[in-house]
Amino acid sequence: MAGHSTNKTTQVLGKAYPMTEHFYDVVVVGAGGAGLRATFGLAERGLKTACISKVFPTRSHTVAAQGGISAALGNMGADDWRWHMYDTVKGSDWLGDQDAIEFMVREAIPAIIELEHYGVPFSRTVDGKIYQRPFGGMTTEYGKGIAQRTCAAADRTGHAILHTLYQQALKHSAEFFIEYFVLDLIFDQQGVCRGVIAWNLDDGTIHQFRAHMVILATGGYGRAYFSCTSAHTCTGDGNAMVLRAGLPLQDMEFVQFHPTGIYGAGCLITEGVRGEGGYLTNSVGERFMERYAPAARDLASRDVVSRSMTIEIREGRGVGKLKDHIYLHLEHLDPKIIHERLPGIAETARVFAGVDVTREPIPVIPTCHYNMGGVPTNYRTEVVTLKDGNPDHVVSGLMAIGEAACVSVHGANRLGSNSLLDLVVFGRAAANRCAEIIRPNTPHPEITLQSMDMALTRLDYFRHAKGSVLPASLRLEMQRVMQNDCGVFRTGDILQNGIEKLKESWQKLQDVRVHDRSMVWNSDLVEVLELDNLLYQAIATITSAHRRQESRGAHAREDFPKRMDDQWLKHTIVWIDDQGQAKIDFRPVHLQPLSKDVQSFPPKARVY
Ligand SMILES: Cc1cc2nc3c(=O)[nH]c(=O)nc-3n(C[C@H](O)[C@H](O)[C@H](O)COP(=O)(O)OP(=O)(O)OC[C@H]3O[C@@H](n4cnc5c(N)ncnc54)[C@H](O)[C@@H]3O)c2cc1C
Repeated sequence: MAGHSTNKTTQVLGKAYPMTEHFYDVVVVGAGGAGLRATFGLAERGLKTACISKVFPTRSHTVAAQGGISAALGNMGADDWRWHMYDTVKGSDWLGDQDAIEFMVREAIPAIIELEHYGVPFSRTVDGKIYQRPFGGMTTEYGKGIAQRTCAAADRTGHAILHTLYQQALKHSAEFFIEYFVLDLIFDQQGVCRGVIAWNLDDGTIHQFRAHMVILATGGYGRAYFSCTSAHTCTGDGNAMVLRAGLPLQDMEFVQFHPTGIYGAGCLITEGVRGEGGYLTNSVGERFMERYAPAARDLASRDVVSRSMTIEIREGRGVGKLKDHIYLHLEHLDPKIIHERLPGIAETARVFAGVDVTREPIPVIPTCHYNMGGVPTNYRTEVVTLKDGNPDHVVSGLMAIGEAACVSVHGANRLGSNSLLDLVVFGRAAANRCAEIIRPNTPHPEITLQSMDMALTRLDYFRHAKGSVLPASLRLEMQRVMQNDCGVFRTGDILQNGIEKLKESWQKLQDVRVHDRSMVWNSDLVEVLELDNLLYQAIATITSAHRRQESRGAHAREDFPKRMDDQWLKHTIVWIDDQGQAKIDFRPVHLQPLSKDVQSFPPKARVY
């Protein structure tokens, strides 16, 4: 069903901006796996839905996901969603909310069958079932055996899923606004989200999208780091919009470093490689993971493998001229397996490392890969905040899904192949929840345009910025601070040093120079807006990391090496004000599952 639009002019700072107003039941910001799953679910349920994306939908970052999507289908051996739940809770280092985790792993099974019916071309077993491979931290019988739980379409699973979801969205006649850059959220005086304001990159026009629900599906902010596996578009714009609206983000200190980014290039070599039998060695040819994780070895959880590799390098057993990376071996595998199940990896290694994987190892290094933190939501995907002593206060009119959200199913560390699952399960849940609470075609209330003025003032400010600092050099400066001062291992002093440097970066942002003043295809202006968004999240991340004085999951403090449940089994909540100052508080972790008859998993030592 189509929305309707009207054209008018708005005055900001004495200037007239032509503006188009659009009216929808729901607006989804983002057309990655999460956004598309929500979009077509909403359209299918008869809600007038607009999906806005700054890039063409099938160029969203999800297209790059390689290894697969988890579900306890049991196609390749015994499996059970309760084992999947246990693995996810343990993987999260007990910071994940067990109600949301139960919801996700139970819904996983029908969600995969649904994807199969929509047309995702999964790889197959000889008897025609969906092929499933082992992945790190995925076990059977509560940690006793290795599970084959990750459903794969060769090593191009994200590509297969994203294209299928886009086709489904087109089939259900969802409306797309492609290459529109959303600037900010629109709130009314009562704190209800009423829509978004966007800039059409193609013709320079400004658009106001009114909606009864805005769903943020804007992905992660990997580009806050110097070396990362994610696309250049992963700047966490939705997270920054939430901060600018005076709402908090959650668990931002938990940043996942993937063990196997290609040394120098950052491109990902999927964990599926180790699932198919690949392994890591140090400079003396030792399979060192046997020392750190005797049972799971190379298939231990990502944070464990990344830390082990970093220790090997620090202790002088790294490989290469500078002894600063590790080798990943596939050359012992049958070339037929590589050709059939890992064709993309062979190509990536050839192009980005100059390596023929059938003959030589791939040089790899832990690389920023995933953001466990994001916009706090409940398992229905409604955004929540701390208000009047209520830690689960629902913010009306706003939902978040996918990597932008912190549901929290991944807690302190995400298990590989649980993100694609998160996208489809919670994308679908968002559509279902909207269908429950929104009646199609409900009229939109009149609102004052205060938050719209703020968004356009920011745009105008950067567009005419005539300072002395180049955005590209400032971005590099911020990325290096995050890489060096908020990386795999952290200490209070180093984090504090990083906080001071980011304060300087914040000041420098007030003195940037944007060369291009036009509103049409102005990549200079897009980059500075994205840099502003990244800086908000970099400050939120490093400040939360400084505050959490323990080690848990992906957050490893050398000065506080132990997990301390009595003090720190809680979610960090962080606000950033318009001066770049952080404020921190906490929310309790949901240790109770959703269903009364489901066993909860109390915290215990996390060994693999
Ligand atoms: C290389 C790589 C491989 C991976 N492999 C796997 C895997 O095998 N299995 C797994 O489970 N996970 C994997 N992951 C993680 C997973 O791919 C991501 O977490 C997931 O794809 C994120 O999806 P998303 O829908 O939340 O966001 P994205 O796919 O990043 O989409 C974000 C969308 O938001 C839009 N957007 C953002 N900002 C704006 C704005 N200001 N205005 C308008 N639109 C905006 C973008 O245009 C885009 O459409 C991998 C990650 C990487 C980096």
